[in-house]
Amino acid sequence: MDLFKQTIHTLHERLTKKEISAVELAKSVFTRTDVVESKIRSYITETREQAMAQAAAVDAKLAKGENIAPLAGIPGALKDNICTNGVKTTCASKILANFVPPYNATVVDKLAAQDAVITGKANCDEFAMGGSTENSGFFVTHNPWDIERVPGGSSGGSASAVAAGQAIWALGSDTGGSIRQPAAYCGAVGLKPTYGRVSRYGLVAYASSLDQIGPITRDVTDSALVLNAIAGYDAKDSTSINEAAPDYTQALVQDVKGLKIGLPKEYFGAGIQPEVAAAIQKAVEQLKAMGAEVKEVSLPHTEYALPAYYLIAPAEASSNLARYDGVGFGHRAEGSDIIEMYKKSRSEGFGPEVKRRIMLGTYALSSGYYDAYYLKALQVRTLVKQDFDKAFGEVDVLITPTAPTTAFKIGELSDPLAMYLQDIYTIPINLAGLPGISLPCGFVSGLPVGMQIIGKPLAEATIIQAAYAFEQANDYHTRFAPLGEE
Ligand code: GLN
Repeated sequence: MDLFKQTIHTLHERLTKKEISAVELAKSVFTRTDVVESKIRSYITETREQAMAQAAAVDAKLAKGENIAPLAGIPGALKDNICTNGVKTTCASKILANFVPPYNATVVDKLAAQDAVITGKANCDEFAMGGSTENSGFFVTHNPWDIERVPGGSSGGSASAVAAGQAIWALGSDTGGSIRQPAAYCGAVGLKPTYGRVSRYGLVAYASSLDQIGPITRDVTDSALVLNAIAGYDAKDSTSINEAAPDYTQALVQDVKGLKIGLPKEYFGAGIQPEVAAAIQKAVEQLKAMGAEVKEVSLPHTEYALPAYYLIAPAEASSNLARYDGVGFGHRAEGSDIIEMYKKSRSEGFGPEVKRRIMLGTYALSSGYYDAYYLKALQVRTLVKQDFDKAFGEVDVLITPTAPTTAFKIGELSDPLAMYLQDIYTIPINLAGLPGISLPCGFVSGLPVGMQIIGKPLAEATIIQAAYAFEQANDYHTRFAPLGEE
C-alpha cells in the first residue's frame, strides 16, 4: 500500500524496523499532495523544506540506533489557527494574511518534542467560524469523497488532508464541532478532548471558554497516539487542567462488555437524514451484540443549546477579535484619523461571517441587553451541563450522530441558520466541556457517516475504548477516498 495511505502506528513500526525512511515517507505525502491539491485545496501554507529537514533528523536518529517517539517522522498538518514560530498563521483571514507568530503553540512544541514532521497549515473557516470551510477568506476546500461537496468545518482542511493522503494525521480545533463534524464528513476519526485537557496556548482564540485542540486521524489508535503527544497541564493556559494525562493507548482494548450506553432521544428528532439515523441505530445494535447495555436517556435542554451557543460564542469572539485593529499586527488600511483607520482595517480584513458574529456578540454584551441575552445564555449553559451530569449518573457514554446529514454540496447551505443547525449534536458537548469522538460508522451513497461517542469529563479513555471496539469490529476505517484512482 502507498505510504501516504497508512496510519501512524503502522508507519512507526516500519520506520523502527528500517523498512522505510522518514524522508521516503515525507516524499510520498508530498508527491500525493502534488497530485490532489489542485482538486482538494487543503493547505494555506506548505512547509516542505522544514518537513524534509525534520524527516532527515529522524532518519539520522534511526541510523544511530536511537529510539524514536510514536509520532517521530510521521507527517501531519496543523489547522492554520495554531501558532507556529516563523511560519505564517492566518486563521484563513485576510486580516492575518501575513501574520508570522514569534512563538509556537504549546501543542506545536509538544509535537516537536516527538520529532513529528509538520507538512503545513491547513485551511479552515475564517477564525474557525463555520461548518464547511466555505467561510475561509482565501478559498474553499473540497471533500475527497466527492469534490463537489464540503469537507465540513471549521477544520475542513485538516480533515481533507487526512482523507486525501496529504497528511497522515492533523490537528484541528473544536469550539462547537469543528473537529468532529469535518472528521465525520471526511470519514476520519476526530476527537475533542475535555475542556482544559489540551493547552490552548498559541491557539488563536475564537470563543475561549469553548475552544479545544484535538486530533483528526485515520483510526482510533492514531487518535490515542496524537492525544498522548498533546495532552497535559500547561502553566501558560490558565484553564488547563492540572492533572497528569494517562497513556491513552492503554484504552485500546476491544471490549465493551457491560458498558452502559445512553441514547439521548432529543438527538434523533426532526432534521436528521433518515439514513444517518439508521446507520447510528445499526452501530448501536452492533455494540449491544458485543455486550454493551443500551438505554434511552433524555437531555431536555438540548433545543436551547444552539441559541445559547450563538450568543456565548459570538460574545467571546467580539471581545477576542477586538485586538485586530490594524495597529499591533495584521492588515492595516490607512485612514485620515485613527477611527477611520480602525474601521477600514477591520472592514477590509474580516469576511461577512466574522463581521456578523462580531455584531451579534457586541449586541449581546451591550448594556441593557447583557442580562437579557448573554447572562441568559450562560444560565442555559448551566442547564445543558446539568442534563449531561444527570445522564452520566445512569450511563458511561452517550452515542449520537455527529451531524444530522452527510457532507452537503458546496453552496448548498447559503442561509447562515441552516449552516448553524449542522452543529446541533456537537455544540452541547462544548457547552458542557465534555470529551467527544467522531468515528465512521457507515456510508450513504458513497459518503461517510460519523458516530459521536460522548464521555464524562476527563473520560477520554472510555470513549477511546468504545470507539476502538466498534472500529475493530468493522472495516470503515480501512476505506480510502477513491480520489485520483478513478
Ligand atoms: N460551526 C460552528 C461555528 O460556526 C463551530 C465552529 C467551531 O467549532 N470552531 O461556530
